[in-house]
Amino acid sequence: MNPVHSPDPLDGVDPAVLRLLRDELVEVSRRGYERGLVVGVSGNNSVRIPGTDVVLIKTTGCCQGEMDTADTVLVTLDGDVLEDAKTPSKEWRWHAGIYRVRSDVGAVVHLHPPHAVAFAVANRVPMIVHTAARGHLRRIEMADLLPAGSQDLADQLTDMFADGELRVALMREHGSVSVGPDLRTAYYRTEYLEDNARVALLAAQLGAMSPDDHIRLAEDSAPLAEAEG
Ligand SMILES: [Zn+2]
Repeated sequence: MNPVHSPDPLDGVDPAVLRLLRDELVEVSRRGYERGLVVGVSGNNSVRIPGTDVVLIKTTGCCQGEMDTADTVLVTLDGDVLEDAKTPSKEWRWHAGIYRVRSDVGAVVHLHPPHAVAFAVANRVPMIVHTAARGHLRRIEMADLLPAGSQDLADQLTDMFADGELRVALMREHGSVSVGPDLRTAYYRTEYLEDNARVALLAAQLGAMSPDDHIRLAEDSAPLAEAEG
């Protein structure tokens, strides 16, 4: 972390907007925990303060299920922490990297959704097996296993998300990353990722379709349902 510099990187930001974003970050984080998409003190979500190079992210070591607005911290994309006595999640580095290369991204959600992570443990990208996931996610990428908080992980995820079409990725043996123009959209993409992985496993138990069939369907753009839901 670097010392706070001037001028004020939040210059011109309405305090009411900041309060709303803190509330929304808490609400979305609690929802992910309550739905079993993350456990313990893992995971970290962030939201960009509109018109700035500042993001609001979870503080380190706090449980998303018990999160309060006091557990959110403002940090610049350079790593300057703007609030005394708070430490951002150690994963701030790759959140910042994604915001740098994606001006369209307003929020980043990182959770450990268990069915999707099962695929990441097996080092397999889940097949996209239903129309909702096909429409909302389009495709899924896989990041290598690299140390949490490391520059190497930040570089890899930043490079991966420099592709302006990418919405979700799995982190091998770890979790998921989803991005969106706002927090809710980014969060819902993680729900679709997890739901798709769970349904893929259930369908495989039924022997409903072969993996090749799923791959063929995933390449068919006809059933894209962008406006659905
Ligand atoms: Zn994680």
